[in-house]
Order: sequence, then C-alpha cells, then structure tokens
Amino acid sequence: MDCLFCKIASGVIPSKKVYEDDEILSFYDINPECKIHVLVIPKTHIESADAITKENSMVVAHIFEAIPKIAKLAGITNGYRVITNAGPDSCQSVMHLHFHILGGEKLPEHIK
Ligand code: 5GP
Ligand code: ZN
Repeated sequence: MDCLFCKIASGVIPSKKVYEDDEILSFYDINPECKIHVLVIPKTHIESADAITKENSMVVAHIFEAIPKIAKLAGITNGYRVITNAGPDSCQSVMHLHFHILGGEKLPEHIK
C-alpha cells in the first residue's frame, strides 16, 4: 500500500523517533506548528478516526495510554493538546490515523 505513515512505521522512510513499541510509533512532525509537535501512529493501517471500530480500537487505547509518556519524552512539561483530523473538511493530509501532540509553549486557542 502506498501510505507515507505505513512506510515511516516500517522504517522504509526515516523519522525522528520519540517512542516506539510493537504497536505504535511516535515521531516529530516534519513541519512543526508549535515548539514541540509530535505525531503518534498505530503501526497497522487505519485510515482515520472515522475508521475506528470495535475490532481495531485497542490500539487507540494503547496510544492514549502512551501519550503521557510520549509527551514527557518529547520534553513537554506544562500541558499539551491532542488533535486528530479525519476526512476532507478537517484537512487531513495523510490518510493513516495519527494524533498530533502539541505543546512546549502556550498554544493559541486554535491550532491544527
Ligand atoms: P494532517 O494534516 O493529516 O492532520 O497531519 C499530517 C502531518 O504529517 C502534518 O502535520 C505534516 O507536517 C506531517 N508530515 C507529512 N509528511 C511527513 C513526513 O514525511 N515526516 C514527518 N515526520 N511528518 C510528516
Ligand atoms: Zn498507512
């Protein structure tokens, strides 16, 4: 499948890793929208939050359990925002489920 984040998950395309385990990968966004901007993805391909089902939602729970650890590893100490875009109106640009973790500075009310 021609999916950028599947290629990053498998290591075919390199990324600056923050955290990795068997199921998920976290890496720095290539085009940060704030001081600390990391992404978290499942290693399995799920198109977006709109494709989360009873069958695949375990990995989403796993991502959210890892997020506090990932935020700390990335150097975020004073709070963060977690965002996911799903579908055309959200401007999702990579069609593989990912959560943005944004922090490292006081964020404007609307970002991402
Ligand atoms: P979306 O707009 O789909 O919610 O977010 C996709 C994010 O992926 C964007 O913030 C974009 O900067 C990031 N991105 C796109 N291509 C790459 C890449 O090759 N490497 C990394 N690290 N981030 C990427
Ligand atoms: Zn994918």
